[in-house]
Amino acid sequence: MATSFQNFIGGTWCNSSDGKTFENRNPADWNEILGIFPLSTSSDVERAAQAADDAFRSWRLVPAPERGNILLRAAELLVRRKDEIAAIMTREMGKPLTETRGDVQEGIDTAFYSASETRRMFGINTPSELRNKMNLSFRIPVGVCGLITPWNFPMAIPSWNIFPGLAAGNTFVFKPAEDTPWTANLLIEILDEAGLPKGCVNLVHGAGSTVGEAITKHPLIRAVSFTGSTATGKLVAQNCGVHTKHLCLEMGGKNAQIVLEDADLDLAIEGVLWGAFGTTGQRCTATSRLILHEKIHDEMVERLVSQASKLRLGNGLETGIDVGPIINEKQRKNIERYVAIGKKEGAACILGARVASGGNLDKGWFFEPTIFTKVTPDMTIAKEEIFGPVLSVLTCSSLEEAIEINNSVIYGLSSSIYTRDINRAMVAARDLEAGITYINAATIGAEAHMPFGGVKATGNGHREGGWAVFDFYTEWKSVYIDYSGKLQRAQIDI
Ligand code: ADP
Repeated sequence: MATSFQNFIGGTWCNSSDGKTFENRNPADWNEILGIFPLSTSSDVERAAQAADDAFRSWRLVPAPERGNILLRAAELLVRRKDEIAAIMTREMGKPLTETRGDVQEGIDTAFYSASETRRMFGINTPSELRNKMNLSFRIPVGVCGLITPWNFPMAIPSWNIFPGLAAGNTFVFKPAEDTPWTANLLIEILDEAGLPKGCVNLVHGAGSTVGEAITKHPLIRAVSFTGSTATGKLVAQNCGVHTKHLCLEMGGKNAQIVLEDADLDLAIEGVLWGAFGTTGQRCTATSRLILHEKIHDEMVERLVSQASKLRLGNGLETGIDVGPIINEKQRKNIERYVAIGKKEGAACILGARVASGGNLDKGWFFEPTIFTKVTPDMTIAKEEIFGPVLSVLTCSSLEEAIEINNSVIYGLSSSIYTRDINRAMVAARDLEAGITYINAATIGAEAHMPFGGVKATGNGHREGGWAVFDFYTEWKSVYIDYSGKLQRAQIDI
């Protein structure tokens, strides 16, 4: 009998209002049911929003460094439980233990970083244009925030939002992805044990179309942070727009790694293996295009295929596994669909392109690392996000052409260039249309204290991570203090 898990509303663990549930299964072994979770309704969101609103009234008045102390305790608990959480995360979403440990570590780093910011979060003071008057401006919390997250970074992405959001004095209604509900419960357990007051973070499990949508429409929820597909993000944006909510969108990517003819090819191959096939390609920053200078194209492709074919697929709990399963059957079918389109449009498939089978692989949603060459920028597999271990190789004859190909897609999250020429690297850093550029490193590897996010159809101008996330989780308050003892009219009595 699988364990039953609950929502967390107003500091109390509870079932969904109508008692319905859904199963959480292991993508590497689909017969393993990891737990039964509440399939919540909009009335659960209602209760969660009320609880978050009640809690906000006192949480916003807690001195920020005191809020930070709770985050420090959460960080310490995460450190203590890192291996336990990583193992559970691997079971529920498949990536190998080395990667799930990294996911928890990102939560730890973000907790420490957010706690440290509670002693800064600087305001700005300016001179007044009038005598005997002082101008201050400082950050205030937004209020109740809705958080809707995907399954590929079940600890890192919620942490990027909840920790700085709490540090700034906000409270939360949190809906994690249906594929990774257990990690969310662990995060909430930790915040509760760290001493977070009741109602500051409320967890509501369930479907995006009910719980997620109710969050985007609830009048008490002032801001929504969404990470997921561009199609869903557009729906979220419509609802948040109609209900005048602040909105931070983190959506698709079609990230490219450029390799110029002077690059260190060993390094570039290591980078693309990690970027394209790490997390089974299921990262918004995954490398899904490789743009090779024609002079090194053949050598690089030959060496890359030889190394990619040696990657070990399997259950991420086993040692030595490089590539875990796809998250679920629907997503694996989507990858198969893109592979078929790639072949039909004339790309040359030189590795993989099929469901991985044999032995324990038959129990889960495995797909072989796949490489297409002879891809041109107009092909579907060169333009659309696939979210799987599928790499499209394109050719260029100059830096300028490589940049043009990189910029030809609608997305702009991450980018990468391998070259030993500092001048060309700097031109790329300036001209690649992306929120992130790596020089001589893969497209993946964000650090908690740096802004994270993309341009163009990837986002809507906000950033998670670093100091930039506080621009989303705070509003500016301007305070004018007139100590002249008389009416002074701005712009008139000068
Ligand atoms: P993915 O394909 O990566 O699962 P989605 O964009 O479908 O990406 O899901 C990301 C998150 O958005 C999940 O938590 C999902 O439940 C939620 N979601 C899905 N549909 C909606 C919706 N209509 N409104 C709000 N949230 C939604």
